Amino acid sequence: MRVAGSTAGPVDRRRFIKGGLGAAGLVTATPLLAACGDDSDAPTVEAPAGESPSAAGERIVIVGAGAAALAAADELEVRGFHNVVILEARDRVGGRIWTSSIGDGIPVELGATWIHGVRGNPISDIVEHNRIETAETDYDNAVLYDHDGRPAEPVDPALWGQYMALAYEMPDASLAEVFNQFAATHALGDDDRRLWLHSLASMFSHEFGADISDLSIMSYDEPSTLRGGDVVFPQGYSQIVDVLAAGRDIRLDHPVAGIDHSEPIVVITTESGDTFEADRVVVTVPLGVLKADAITFTPGLPPAMRDAITALDMGILNRTCLLFDEPFWGRDTEWIGYAGQQPGQWSETLNLYPYLGRPVLAMFNPGSFGAEIEQYSDAEITSRAIGALMAMFGDVPEPVDAVSTRWELDPWSRGSYSYLPVGVAFDTYREMARPVGDRLFFAGEATHSRFPSTVHGALLSGRRAARQISGLMR
Ligand SMILES: Cc1cc2nc3c(=O)[nH]c(=O)nc-3n(C[C@H](O)[C@H](O)[C@H](O)COP(=O)(O)OP(=O)(O)OC[C@H]3O[C@@H](n4cnc5c(N)ncnc54)[C@H](O)[C@@H]3O)c2cc1C
Repeated sequence: MRVAGSTAGPVDRRRFIKGGLGAAGLVTATPLLAACGDDSDAPTVEAPAGESPSAAGERIVIVGAGAAALAAADELEVRGFHNVVILEARDRVGGRIWTSSIGDGIPVELGATWIHGVRGNPISDIVEHNRIETAETDYDNAVLYDHDGRPAEPVDPALWGQYMALAYEMPDASLAEVFNQFAATHALGDDDRRLWLHSLASMFSHEFGADISDLSIMSYDEPSTLRGGDVVFPQGYSQIVDVLAAGRDIRLDHPVAGIDHSEPIVVITTESGDTFEADRVVVTVPLGVLKADAITFTPGLPPAMRDAITALDMGILNRTCLLFDEPFWGRDTEWIGYAGQQPGQWSETLNLYPYLGRPVLAMFNPGSFGAEIEQYSDAEITSRAIGALMAMFGDVPEPVDAVSTRWELDPWSRGSYSYLPVGVAFDTYREMARPVGDRLFFAGEATHSRFPSTVHGALLSGRRAARQISGLMR
C-alpha cells in the first residue's frame, strides 16, 4: 500500500519527494513512467533447440489466481494459448485483492485498496473499458492527533528534506539509524522524537510493511512510481479481478505442493495428490510462500533465485475495519493520524465515509506491531482499536461490526507484500523474474523489478511471463 495520510506531514510519496527533497534542493529519483508496460528489463528465454512448439498445442498451468496469474492467462489467451488451467489454493480468486464486507454487506478492502498512479497504469485501462467506478483520494485531507487527543502539527517539510538528505548520505544504514543521528544533531526532545517516529512510521512503515530499522533509503527510492493521483473503488477492487477471471478455467481449493520440471512434461501435484501435466508452468505464488518452501521444486530452484528469495522480505500491513452507527469523526476528513506513545501503532486511520457514505473506519498496523496483533483474538484487536480512538476522540461507541486481517498467518500469502530490506540490492528483484529453463516461469508482485508490491506490478509481471512463453513459439 502506498500510504498516505499527510498526517505524517508529506506522506504521499510523490508529494513527499516534492516537499521534502525539493526543500533540500535534491533531484527526484522518480522517472517518467509513461512506458510502464515496457518490460525491457525482463529476462529473456532461449528458444529450445529443434522444432518450435505452437501456442495452440501447449498445455499451460498457472499456479495461483491473483492479479499476476489472471493477467498472464489473459495475455496468453490473446496470444493464442487456449489450454490454460489455473490452480488456486484458496476458495476464491484475487489473492491479495480481496473485497470483503462489513455490516449489512458494505464492501471493504482487506488487501489492495488504491490504484497507485492512474496515469499509464494498466489497471486504469481495465477501469475505463469496463466503466468501473473509482473515487479520487486526497492524502492532504488529514488531521493529526497527539497522544493526549490534542491536535498536533505534522513535521516541518523543510526538516523532512534534511532528514532525507542525511538518509541519502547513509544508503547502507537503516532509516532508524539515520533518525538516531538526525535526532542527536537536531537535539530533538521526547515530544519531537515521538512526532518524528510517527511520521517515519506513516511514511515508510505503512508503505513497505516493515519497521524503519529494516528499511533503508534505497528500499524507498528504488521502486518506480506512477503519476496521476491515486483512486479507490467504492464498489470494491474485486471488480478488476472479476473482469480478468471471467471465462477462465480456474480450479479453486487446489493448493499446489510440488512441481517436477525434471522431464519435458512438467508434473504439478496438489496437496490432495491430484496431478496435472503441462508443457509450461507459470508460478505466481507470493514471495512469502516461496520463502516458506511451501512448494517443492524438482529439481530445486537455481541458487541465484534461492538467494533472492532469502534476501527479499515480506512486509506486513494489517487492517481493522470498524462500522459504527454514526460518524463521531469529521465525516469528510479522509485520514486520521495518531501520534501515540507507541509510534506506528494505530497511527493511520482511513475514513471510508467519503467513498461509501457509511461510517466505516479502516485502521492500519504495519511491521512488527502488525505481526504482533495477529496473535490477539478479534475481540482484543477491536478493543485496542477502540482504545486508540478513545485517546483521540474521548468517548467512543461500541462498533456495530469489526473485521481484522492476519496477512502473515495467511498460509497462501505469509505477509502482505515484498520489500527491499536494508543492504539488499534492488537488482535482486530481477532474479525473481528469471525463468528456469524453458518450462518454468515466474510472475507476481515480487518479480517485478520496477513496481514491486503493487497490483500493477503484479499485472505487468503476469503479462511478461506470458510474453516469455509466447516468445518460444513459432
Ligand atoms: C493489506 C494490503 C494492502 C495493499 N494495498 C495495495 C494498494 O493499495 N495498491 C496496490 O497496488 N497494491 C496493494 N497491495 C499489494 C497488492 O495487493 C499485491 O501486490 C498484488 O495483489 C499481488 O498480486 P499477485 O498476483 O502477485 O499475488 P497474489 O494476489 O497473492 O496471488 C497469488 C495467489 O497464489 C495463491 N497461492 C499461494 N500459494 C499457493 C499454492 N501453494 N498453490 C496454489 N495457489 C497458491 C494465493 O492464494 C493467491 O491467490 C496490498 C496488499 C495488501 C496485503
